[in-house]
Amino acid sequence: MGGTKIEAAVYEMSGTEVKVICRKRLPTESVKGYDHICQQVISLIQQVRDETQLIPAHIGFSTPGTVEPSTGLMKNCNTTCMNGQAMKADLEQGLGVPISLTNDANCFALAEARLGIVRDKTPDAQVVFGVIMGSGCGGGVIIEGKSITGLHGIGGEWGHNFLDESGEDCYCGSHGCNETIISGPALQRYYHQLSGKERTMQEITMLYRTGEDVHATATLHRLFSMFGKAISVIINILDPDAIVLGGGLGNIDELYTHGVEEVKKHIFNKGVVNTPFLKPKLGDSAGVFGAGLVFSD
Ligand SMILES: [Zn+2]
Repeated sequence: MGGTKIEAAVYEMSGTEVKVICRKRLPTESVKGYDHICQQVISLIQQVRDETQLIPAHIGFSTPGTVEPSTGLMKNCNTTCMNGQAMKADLEQGLGVPISLTNDANCFALAEARLGIVRDKTPDAQVVFGVIMGSGCGGGVIIEGKSITGLHGIGGEWGHNFLDESGEDCYCGSHGCNETIISGPALQRYYHQLSGKERTMQEITMLYRTGEDVHATATLHRLFSMFGKAISVIINILDPDAIVLGGGLGNIDELYTHGVEEVKKHIFNKGVVNTPFLKPKLGDSAGVFGAGLVFSD
């Protein structure tokens, strides 16, 4: 489930090959509130059930935010109407099937590690960090093919690390989080402050490449330098064998060159960064495949 759409997939795995049997989407329509979101999920699963004539024994669910282990209630969702809700219990009641909720960035990282670009490019990687930089910032840690959830359910939640005072106030209650500086909307707002113009991140990136828009140049330079600071923290703590850069900003090629140069300035390794930075392979599908992988062992 994402902020704009919900996707359901039924797939078969043999080894690391995936055969999709059925795939369907519905809009999340999150502005209509929590009950509506649950209803959308339930009707989507019913549609898949009708089409495949398969009855699920268990459903893996990729969600923004996470379940607080001590209460079973949702927290940390940027779709804020979900916070404090017993979503797992509500969906199980609506569907009559046990459900496991896993944070979407963890699902993304798991899918790319086991079925996606990490499997293709660095198959021996034991420790993988999946970064999401899109409408929000998130992250997931995979160790030996398993997602690390953590004591509070916040394992890998890199998006809300403090990055810089120049960032904005964040919905999470803090200020200057990664998400308030190097997410797409934060950078678009930064460009707007400089130029007075509303542009998408894609447009700003194209303008940066022309070299003729000083505000676009300043915005992308902010992205690269702040990316360097934010990613160096991950490498200093975890030193992963591979980092996958997902979300819309992961498509910006210069992150893999200029951005990585900035990482070198801050890493505790005399400027040497051998970490492979990989572009994801599964696109939008990573979440839905990762959700299923939670049960594949
Ligand atoms: Zn935050």
